[in-house]
Amino acid sequence: MLNTLRKIVQEVNSAKDLKAALGIIVLRVKEAMGSQVCSVYLLDPQANRFVLMASEGLNKRSIGRVSMAPNEGLVGLVGTREEPLNLEDAAAHPRYRYFAETGEERFASFLGAPIIHHRRVVGVLVVQQKERRQFDEGEEAFLVTMSAQLAGVIAHAEATGSIRGLDRAGKARHQEAKFVGVPGSPGAAVGTALVVLPPADLEVVPDKTVADIGSELQLFQHALEGVRSDMRTLSAKLATQLRPEERALFDVYLMMLDDASLGSEVTQVIKTGQWAQGALRQVVGEHVSRFELMDDAYLRERASDVKDLGRRLLAYLQQARQQTLVYPDNTILVSEELTPAMLGEVPEGKLVGLVSVMGSGNSHVAILARAMGIPTVMGLVDLPYSKVDGIEMIVDGYHGEVFTNPSEILRKQYSAVVADERELAKGLDALRELPCVTTDGHRIPLWVNTGLLADVARAQQRGAEGVGLYRTEVPFMINQRFPSEKEQLAIYREQLVAFHPLPVTMRSLDIGGDKSLSYFPIHEENPFLGWRGIRVTLDHPEIFLVQARAMLKASEGLNNLRILLPMISGTHEVEEAMHLIHRAWGEVRDEGTDVPMPPVGVMVEIPAAVYLTRELSRQVDFLSVGSNDLTQYLLAVDRNNPRVADLYDYLHPAVLQALQHVVTEAHAEGKPVSICGEMAGDPAAAVLLMAMGFDSLSMNATNLPKVKWMLRQVSYAKSRELLAQLMKIDNPQVIHSSLQLALKNQGLGRMINPQAPKTL
Ligand code: PEP
Ligand code: MG
Repeated sequence: MLNTLRKIVQEVNSAKDLKAALGIIVLRVKEAMGSQVCSVYLLDPQANRFVLMASEGLNKRSIGRVSMAPNEGLVGLVGTREEPLNLEDAAAHPRYRYFAETGEERFASFLGAPIIHHRRVVGVLVVQQKERRQFDEGEEAFLVTMSAQLAGVIAHAEATGSIRGLDRAGKARHQEAKFVGVPGSPGAAVGTALVVLPPADLEVVPDKTVADIGSELQLFQHALEGVRSDMRTLSAKLATQLRPEERALFDVYLMMLDDASLGSEVTQVIKTGQWAQGALRQVVGEHVSRFELMDDAYLRERASDVKDLGRRLLAYLQQARQQTLVYPDNTILVSEELTPAMLGEVPEGKLVGLVSVMGSGNSHVAILARAMGIPTVMGLVDLPYSKVDGIEMIVDGYHGEVFTNPSEILRKQYSAVVADERELAKGLDALRELPCVTTDGHRIPLWVNTGLLADVARAQQRGAEGVGLYRTEVPFMINQRFPSEKEQLAIYREQLVAFHPLPVTMRSLDIGGDKSLSYFPIHEENPFLGWRGIRVTLDHPEIFLVQARAMLKASEGLNNLRILLPMISGTHEVEEAMHLIHRAWGEVRDEGTDVPMPPVGVMVEIPAAVYLTRELSRQVDFLSVGSNDLTQYLLAVDRNNPRVADLYDYLHPAVLQALQHVVTEAHAEGKPVSICGEMAGDPAAAVLLMAMGFDSLSMNATNLPKVKWMLRQVSYAKSRELLAQLMKIDNPQVIHSSLQLALKNQGLGRMINPQAPKTL
């Protein structure tokens, strides 16, 4: 059964559009189950009706014509109950509705399973049989498993259709579609998607229509000649090492390239207006999936030969293409995996947004995007990115969402957000020199989070009063090996000098989780619960000591260094780390560097640390809450998983209570407490954090002026009243709406929603 399932899903996956996908589904499921009918009904959300979209066994004429409301018929019942329905005699059921045009009166038994994607019913899969008999348990299980697997494929095919301007019936109709990823860098952008490809990766080549078919044909001919000659050279080179029959492989390759074979098929597709690369992907893809479906192992192997040929041809095509990449105004760069190099190639002034299918908020490119202030969405796993080249797109880097083919209304809304932000940024410049103080005189310093040197300039432009979190892993991540003590010293000194005499809080190396070093790979089943942060550096004191020595030496004569320890879960870790810092301090002083012992603090980002706030406070000079990880661990929601992005919420009552607890307990020990997670950069949340008593807030430079604007408009006393009210609410949604309403009522709606940042 598993094998049959796998084959069907694979075949459906390679279908060229939704119609073809549904056709394969009904044919293959009918065959596999030995039934007389298999049909798919899809829910048309606009009409709110289940429409018969494909069938094997029912009259073909009825396809697209027969439909029923959710409260009609057996299909409606399966869709609304979201449960399978297995009937021996369908006509005897009170909900049975007869559609003469289907000819279904001939079939007595009925088995239907809902097709559900991300909690939403997208359709119903039905099999029917002539004889009166209940489908057995195995058959029911098969259909349920099939429909669960197909849900994602159908949703994907639908999204692709809407992107290319085709509706379910294949008619031209551009539709807005929304895709959810994770925030990479805050901000909003409206622009045109430009898909960039890694070198010679056939699977990610996008579709592109071209006007100049002649030059595409020429390009392809060039590529063919290039690969042919490479093959001949290769074959000749290996003449002494390979037996003649082994060398026959090259002849097979040459035959495949022949005008009568692969070559001519690609040429045919180019003639329909597809660019050469897209045509190549299409033809090679069809051949590969045909080979892969074969039962014969030898023939299955041939799939890899075709793939290899495809890649070789593509490499030639891409060489020719490289100089001709045209960046439109307001480019939104889209790639399966964006790299900093791709970002660097965009001409100045053209880039407005970034979208990456893979990666997280901690990927290099996201770090860079934050430093450059480019709205970015990462981890957009459901986006059929190869289909989006040239289409209009909206990037919402606050919420981690992307819209393709946006409606006029949505485009206007976001264009207004973009214009408003630009306007706001100008107005906010005036705030730079002003202190962050409430209307009733409560003063709260706003600090910045940094990583690259580029962050420094932005932070200073925006009036940061210190660095609350310098992520030292960033210089480690962009290196090819561990930076030496001397190299680290130089990097750290730049940060310390740039902000002097303001404080710079340097966090000890925080790798693991989703932050990896190419030269120190950590492979784990469950990296966020694994070897991360302080756990790694305590196991490698040599790394920790070198880093601490570099920090201490870098602070000579400046004395604005603070050291912060990440991922602390208990006092024993602080003791060990303190011991190492003291050792490093002793060593650098013995070497003649006269520096005082810097203040040392711990990050509160694991629930254990929340409960140990009192004990930890006694050991250190300050605390800093990492709300990104604290939210993730308190709610058990992976901060980088778009599937559960809805559940990731730092305004959840459990998070708010934990934060208040940390502040109260730290203050009871007389220790200052700051917060450096992205929550601090959300202007609305910042009001609550200030009311809780946080001594300073540290955030990305982009959001700092907005937070300052907000806090300068509110009164501390009123914020405390608001916090007290919200702390009594147990429902996260109600907390959100009450907070927004309260701020709107104070005339502060401008700085919240629709662009209220959720995480980054
Ligand atoms: C945090 O967890 O909130 C934090 C600031 O650290 P990072 O995002 O680097 O894990
Ligand atoms: Mg963290």
